[in-house]
Amino acid sequence: MKRVKDKIFGVIGLGRFGHHVAKTLAQGGAEVIACDSDEEKVRQIADLVSMAFVLDATDEKALKESGIVNADTVVVSIGENIEASILIVVQLKELGVKEVIAKAANPMHGKILERLGVDRVIYPERDMAIRLAHSLLIGEFIEEIPIGEKYSIFEIKAFEFMQGKSLKELDLRKRFEISVLAIKRGEAMLVNPSGDERILPGDILVVLGTTAKLSELSK
Ligand code: ATP
Repeated sequence: MKRVKDKIFGVIGLGRFGHHVAKTLAQGGAEVIACDSDEEKVRQIADLVSMAFVLDATDEKALKESGIVNADTVVVSIGENIEASILIVVQLKELGVKEVIAKAANPMHGKILERLGVDRVIYPERDMAIRLAHSLLIGEFIEEIPIGEKYSIFEIKAFEFMQGKSLKELDLRKRFEISVLAIKRGEAMLVNPSGDERILPGDILVVLGTTAKLSELSK
């Protein structure tokens, strides 16, 4: 596996989403090639990334010349112009880009992108909305990785009522169908903690469960 610093990322479409993806990747030390058909959008990112081009990415020749097709991962961030998004994805796939990630404007757009073999379809507004709602439902929410439709891995601050109790005493698995996968304690990470492990103040728990059960727990 290549290290992030050795990877080349392409970002096509520099609206709000694409701009922040390109900027954050570049700030993280990655090489980023960005493009947009709008000159102003390209100007706004030009100083931040390795290379930035004004081009119509539906034009295969322009796409090849930009070098974006040599990237390890290309993010297509075009929501409004669904036709352009589809044309670009097809060309990236045909030109052999290893990993294509694309933003979908709606479920139908997402379905088409999946059928075209996009490796990861992103629904930024839906995903952010769900994340926000979950963080409001679960008091001590830090991070969430969705696993399938219903389940997520959550990182939460241990609730106050847990402090001093062992995992056996808390019995989260039986009472809430929640599994504690790990406990972060300062710099230490206790993976697969035993039932005798006691929760200490400041502990962060990595748990697997549903939002519904976790919000029940936070009450
Ligand atoms: P956001 O919500 O992230 O701001 P959006 O989905 O509303 O984005 P869009 O209008 O879909 O934004 O387009 C994103 C960007 O993609 C725009 O800056 C637009 O100029 C660019 N874009 C659209 N079509 C092409 C194309 N064929 N080639 C290159 N860039 C394109």
